Amino acid sequence: MSDPVRDPVSDPARLEMRDVHLTYRTAEGPVPAVRGVDLCVVAGEVVGVAGESGCGKSTLISTVLRLFPKTATVTGEVLLDGENVLTMPWGRIRAVRWGVASVVFQGALHSLNPIQQIGKQLAEPIFLHDSRATEQSAAGKVRQLLDQVGLPARHANAYPHQLSGGQKQRVMIALALSCDPQILVADEPTTALDVMVQAQILELLTGIARERSMAVLIISHDLSVLATTCDRVAVMYAGRIIEQGPARDVFASPEHPYTRALSGAFPTIGDRASRYAPSGLAGDPPFPGDLPSGCPFHPRCPVALPVCPTVDVRLLPAGPGRAAACVHVDDSVPVR
Ligand code: ADP
Ligand code: MG
Repeated sequence: MSDPVRDPVSDPARLEMRDVHLTYRTAEGPVPAVRGVDLCVVAGEVVGVAGESGCGKSTLISTVLRLFPKTATVTGEVLLDGENVLTMPWGRIRAVRWGVASVVFQGALHSLNPIQQIGKQLAEPIFLHDSRATEQSAAGKVRQLLDQVGLPARHANAYPHQLSGGQKQRVMIALALSCDPQILVADEPTTALDVMVQAQILELLTGIARERSMAVLIISHDLSVLATTCDRVAVMYAGRIIEQGPARDVFASPEHPYTRALSGAFPTIGDRASRYAPSGLAGDPPFPGDLPSGCPFHPRCPVALPVCPTVDVRLLPAGPGRAAACVHVDDSVPVR
C-alpha cells in the first residue's frame, strides 16, 4: 500500500520497503517471520515500529543491511535512497553499511569491547571507511561524535565499564553515526535503560534525525515510548504491519484492537488509575511457523467477530494518514 501522507515527489524516501517477506528455513519447517511489509521513512523523519517480542521487528531490521542468516529467504525490495539492498553486489553492500545506513542492534550496548578505550572503538570504522583519515582527523571526528551524543570529549579515554548504561548507548549511537549515514535504524535502543534515560536517548535520536536530515527507524516493544518521540508509527503483529499512522493519533485513538491493547499495556505517567490497572493482553503472539487462520490476532482479540477466523484483512484506510488491518474498519466485510 502506498503511504497516504507522503508526496513522493517533494518527499523522496530515504528508506523504503516494498512487500518485504522473510522466511527462515528450520528443521521444524518454514518460519515466515516477515509477511509483506511496506514501510517508508523520508529525510528528517523518525518512524517507530512497535509490537511484542516475536512479532518480527528484528527480522525486518535485518533486511535493511542484508544481515539475515543464510537460512532466510527474502523477497520484495529494500531501497536505500532508491538502491535495492537485496540485489546489490557484495562490494556495494560493504560500502553501504555504515556509509549509507547503519544499525544500532538490540542489546548492543553490551557489545562494546571491554578492554579498548571508547575513542579507539569510535575511530575504527572511520579508518576502515575513509582511506585518507589520519590519527589527527580521526581524533577530531571522535570528539565531534561524542559532542553530538552529549558526552564530554574526555570519555574518549574511558573504558566501557566506566560508563553508565545510558552513556554506553550514546556511544553506540555515536558509533552508528561515525561514517555520516543518511539512514539510522535502532533496534530497542532504550529497552535496557531506566525511564528517564530512555526519554533522553530518544530525544537524542530525534534531534539528530532532524539536524542531519536523516531517516531514522526506531524499534520498540513499548508503543508509549514511540508515541511521544516519533512522527509516525507502524504496529507489527505476526510479521505484518497491522496499523500505521501519525504517532500521537495511533497511540491516542488506536483503530486496531491489538494497538489498543498495546497502548493500554503501559501505565501513563501521572495517571494513577492506569498505573494500578495496566490493561495488558493475555497470552503471546503466535509462532510464525504455526499461524491461526484468518486474522492472526483473532484468538486473543477481545472484539473478534465470527468472521475473523476466515478473513485475513490487509491494511485499509482508517482516517487521515492512517491505515489498519481489521474487519472493524472494513465496511465491505459482513460482520456476521
Ligand atoms: P522481535 O524482534 O519482534 O522480537 P524477531 O524478528 O526476533 O521478533 O523474531 C520473529 C520470529 O522469527 C520469532 O518467532 C523468532 O523465533 C523467529 N526467528 C528469529 N530469528 C530466527 C532464525 N535465525 N531462525 C529461525 N527463526 C528465527
Ligand atoms: Mg527484537
